[in-house]
Amino acid sequence: MSLADQSVSPSARPLVKLSNIRKSFGSVEVLKGVDMAVQEGQVVAMIGRSGSGKSTLLRSINGLERIDDGVIEVDGECVDPSQIDLRALRLKVGMVFQQFNLFPHLTAGENVMLALKVVKKQDKAACRAAAEAALSKVGLGHKFDAYPSQLSGGQQQRVAIARSLAMAPKVLLCDEITSALDPELVNEVLSVVRQLAEEGMTLLLVTHEMRFAREVCDSLVFMHGGRIIEHGPPAELFDRPQTPELAQFVGMVE
Ligand code: ADP
Ligand code: MG
Repeated sequence: MSLADQSVSPSARPLVKLSNIRKSFGSVEVLKGVDMAVQEGQVVAMIGRSGSGKSTLLRSINGLERIDDGVIEVDGECVDPSQIDLRALRLKVGMVFQQFNLFPHLTAGENVMLALKVVKKQDKAACRAAAEAALSKVGLGHKFDAYPSQLSGGQQQRVAIARSLAMAPKVLLCDEITSALDPELVNEVLSVVRQLAEEGMTLLLVTHEMRFAREVCDSLVFMHGGRIIEHGPPAELFDRPQTPELAQFVGMVE
């Protein structure tokens, strides 16, 4: 049993709770009733083949997709798909994507400060202090004035992580954040995520980094065809898959 499991009392309220989430694009149902709970401080990895619905699920939690049915609760509040208060939701739920999506004409520091200004409406000094702290946390305190084009892909992704962290979210969603990086740049980004995990940040990560998932995550979720068909401790799922689908997936990627 991991530390995170031990610290969860039976009465603890999950930080993110998904109940029977359904979502279709046109006539294609891509989420077919997903249930999941992420406790505070837990690190959950989501794996599965391309097209299994992982990104759609993460995007739904952040209000980037509107679900057709089911209930999403974040920090005890329902994310009502018909009247999502996106601003309030995104103060609680940070998200980092495969593509870093930094503004090329803004420095690293300005990229991080932008959301603080717009969403948190903080004054300039407070924005700057928060941005400096967030960049330092990802090891880029010295790159405040650098433009994205002057940074490596790994550094750009760390700026993107800092941009999310500066908002002090309750949970950070990461969608394949190392998939666009050259192999030699993957580890610097994974180390940042590992450090956040060790500090107790609640994380929900879609990843293809199986060793990382095994070493860092408390819980693993396997999605297949719009459903979670296995979940549990990573070592258990990797070593003793219960479904042929997971056995095949693990054989394919390991
Ligand atoms: P994953 O992240 O596991 O690869 P996605 O959630 O991206 O899976 O996609 C699940 C399915 O939904 C795929 O078949 C994909 O083509 C489809 N899909 C995703 N986004 C859209 C969209 N905006 N419009 C139509 N189909 C989409
Ligand atoms: Mg995806």
